[in-house]
Amino acid sequence: MTRITIAKGDGIGPEIMDATLKILTAAKAPIEWDEVSIGEQQYLAGNTTGIPNEAWDTIRKNKIFLKAPITTPQGKGYKSLNVTLRKTLGLFSNVRPCNSFAPYIATKHPDMDVVIVRENEEDLYAGIEHRQTDEVYQCLKLITRPGCEKIVRYAFEYAKLYNRKKVSCFVKDNIMKLTDGLFHTVFKEIAAEYPEIESDSWIVDIAAAKIANEPKQFDVVVLPNLYGDIVSDITAEISGSVGLAGSSNVGEECAMFEAIHGSAPLIAGKKIANPSGLLRGAIMMLNHIGAQDVAMIIKNAWSCVIEEGIHTADIYKEGVSKKLVNTMEFADAVIERLGHKPKHLPEVVYNTNAQIDIKKYKRKTPQTKVLVGVDVFIDWKGTQADDLAVQLSKANGDLELKMITNRGVKVWPHGFQETFCTDHWRCRFEKSVGTEKVFNQSIVDLLHKIGVEQLDAIKTENLYEFDGQLGYSLGQGQ
Ligand code: NAD
Repeated sequence: MTRITIAKGDGIGPEIMDATLKILTAAKAPIEWDEVSIGEQQYLAGNTTGIPNEAWDTIRKNKIFLKAPITTPQGKGYKSLNVTLRKTLGLFSNVRPCNSFAPYIATKHPDMDVVIVRENEEDLYAGIEHRQTDEVYQCLKLITRPGCEKIVRYAFEYAKLYNRKKVSCFVKDNIMKLTDGLFHTVFKEIAAEYPEIESDSWIVDIAAAKIANEPKQFDVVVLPNLYGDIVSDITAEISGSVGLAGSSNVGEECAMFEAIHGSAPLIAGKKIANPSGLLRGAIMMLNHIGAQDVAMIIKNAWSCVIEEGIHTADIYKEGVSKKLVNTMEFADAVIERLGHKPKHLPEVVYNTNAQIDIKKYKRKTPQTKVLVGVDVFIDWKGTQADDLAVQLSKANGDLELKMITNRGVKVWPHGFQETFCTDHWRCRFEKSVGTEKVFNQSIVDLLHKIGVEQLDAIKTENLYEFDGQLGYSLGQGQ
């Protein structure tokens, strides 16, 4: 028996959780559970994280968590509980299988079978945002080597375990050469360790268009957090209904399983929601804890219900569906078919003891880091970069002004009159001729002199070389 934590969540959450637990119990899933209260009630009681301490204790003790959807209240101050759970528990991989069940569930893509493996902890979801000037707001996009290696390796291990033929990587490294560039580099490095699995890389914009139009050409797709969030909703929706897909969030220690959809407040309490997304999350949980036999029995019974046309309202279609059922009637139909095999939809066979091997991450030896300059961001209300350059050049010393950009575009030296400028100027200082070495103190001295010029330095970003390679991007037009 595995002791797990469950949370019934908000909106349709309690209805679909009750249906799912009824099926798990009838199938004799080898689990026992502790229930925790997280979500809307906790938020409204004044806990801005939505997770009380007692819930954290239970979740951390049991390590396996089956969670129904949660409503994040609108308004400032409430942090998404889902993001908090994923990041605090180190659940770096989010796997979302999206396949169609044609002709039983209407879809334009009858033969799609795609698995989205989304990085779950990094990227713009670090949530580090600042308003820096009157006009400019920023959000930091953090991509790390350990984060990329863990998620890409997970995608290839998943492909190996489930006999998938190809892993594709979606990035935007033609623009974000360092961050998305790292994801792509790591993808190529790790792909080389799995020569038996085909691999290819795409620019995310055209890839998103292709997957929406021709999902058949994709198999397993691995992507950074934000692209994964968007692309997985597209793939779930085009497979038939967002109410169908389940997902796993897995880390080195803990794992959380859920439906990909939200709490659907408009249909909450009507008892008509489709419990399939959460049930499929629960099947992934059974796979994870090694209960493959029960996972198979439930999945095959579920396929029988779908192909017999016993459908909830979200997937019910006149002429295709045979019987419209509510949430619990759907669950009862699955229970009646436990032990049956589907006649038309493929029967699933899971490998016994099929578990993804997650190795503890081993840090690499750090490269040699050398400070070579600094970008100083200035809040300046002037319009002519040449004027700013004249003033800043007075601060030259060990470090010398080399370039000014505005929203990344070079405006000094030799800027164009046509470039629209905001009040946010990135001023690049690099080691001046004759200076042997740049120290942190050189930057402090520079900032002091900029202060004397009465300029408002709002942020600095040190410029480093790592093993002789530039650790920063060039300005556009530099
Ligand atoms: P949603 O997924 O709840 O609903 C989108 C649409 O799909 C609605 O029309 C809804 O009725 C339908 N739908 C969703 N699940 C269904 C099901 N099982 N059966 C039948 N129809 C279903 O998305 P939303 O409306 O954008 O979000 C509602 C709330 O859910 C928000 O507070 C959001 O923050 C939260 N949310 C939570 C999670 C999570 O807990 N993992 C994920 C997404 C959204």
